Amino acid sequence: MEGRQRKHCHCGKLCRVQTSWTDSNLGRRFLVCPLGRNKGCCFFEWFDPEMCSRSKDIIPRLLKNRGRLEQDLAQLRGIIIIRFRVDYVM
Ligand SMILES: [Zn+2]
Repeated sequence: MEGRQRKHCHCGKLCRVQTSWTDSNLGRRFLVCPLGRNKGCCFFEWFDPEMCSRSKDIIPRLLKNRGRLEQDLAQLRGIIIIRFRVDYVM
């Protein structure tokens, strides 16, 4: 990660890098106080630049579609295992 990771918060601590998972900032990293909001300061700064509006529109839909495909795949794997047991084991 680039030198911006070495930024310090208002407490003088080295910032922690976190990743946003909101639809409007999916995968966008930001810097915060390593002590958290309650024990440390409220330092917040975006690490990555803002995504373009097209990416903000497309990426959440792609991730949702991927999740559905992963569920379908898991279901199909279960069906195949059951069929195998019925056809070859029993
Ligand atoms: Zn702090």
